[in-house]
Amino acid sequence: MITKVIPEEKITAVLKLIKKSSKIVIVAHKRPDGDAIGSTLALCNFLIGQGKSATVILPDAIPSFHSGLPGAKDVVCFETQESEARALINESDLIFCLDFNFPSRIGALEAPITESRAKKVLIDHHLNHGEFTDVIISHPEISSTCELIFRLICRMGYFPDMSLETAQCICTGMLTDTGGLAFNSNSPEIYTIISELLKKGVDKDAIYRNAFNNYSESRMKLLGYVLYKKMRVLKEYHTAIITLTHDEMLRFNYQPGDTEGFVNQPLSIDHVFCSIFIKEEKDVIKLSFRSQGDMDVNIMTKELFGG
Ligand code: MN
Repeated sequence: MITKVIPEEKITAVLKLIKKSSKIVIVAHKRPDGDAIGSTLALCNFLIGQGKSATVILPDAIPSFHSGLPGAKDVVCFETQESEARALINESDLIFCLDFNFPSRIGALEAPITESRAKKVLIDHHLNHGEFTDVIISHPEISSTCELIFRLICRMGYFPDMSLETAQCICTGMLTDTGGLAFNSNSPEIYTIISELLKKGVDKDAIYRNAFNNYSESRMKLLGYVLYKKMRVLKEYHTAIITLTHDEMLRFNYQPGDTEGFVNQPLSIDHVFCSIFIKEEKDVIKLSFRSQGDMDVNIMTKELFGG
């Protein structure tokens, strides 16, 4: 048995919206990770199975190591297929916003999505959320959006209909957002869900290999470089900081998604409980925080950066 995390009235509301919609768009955040891609593709695959016309639109390209996921080939990339994406958004009657909390997280998609008159549903697990959708399903205590998608599909009564492809996508996000069930994964129900996905025929080990052991040579060299040259360990604060400049990324032939997971690396050092990764992108500095044990970076990011 799995507890009812999402309130009943929200399940009913989403089911009602799905039933009366025919053209559905699903979006996720910029520089999509395994959970953003897995959750959007899982929901899209499920909706298509229910006879809906559903399309995933992402602000930018899917990293190559996730491009083999079921449905990834049909994803519309706003950066390179803007007019097609705009047409789909204009025609849509329902928009799902997955794995992000504020519209600014979807970059150039922000205006077309927020201005659309379609009904909107937010499903996310980040801390805090904006008020830009008709239904808000926000659960920071859940370790991945993919887990929320699994819970949603089950609670709407469609678990028997769940395809292997949907299950594979859900498993991808559950694994990537927990480092392969290495952190944020103390909830026993995660394993109940993984067990159900395995029963659907999912090859968890293959999904793990694909998500974690499928990097390019230049990504590996970039990781080696940042750990050797750019990581500073502040012992008295049990904290490690890695910085990476745009020039350095170019030097190592950076591809989207290449720095995914970098922030987790210092946590494998004895007595390092907090890790901060600071990356300079074209027009913005991106900070990622991770902690383990009793240290909670959520409090820090909330107090210093508002989330
Ligand atoms: Mn996520």
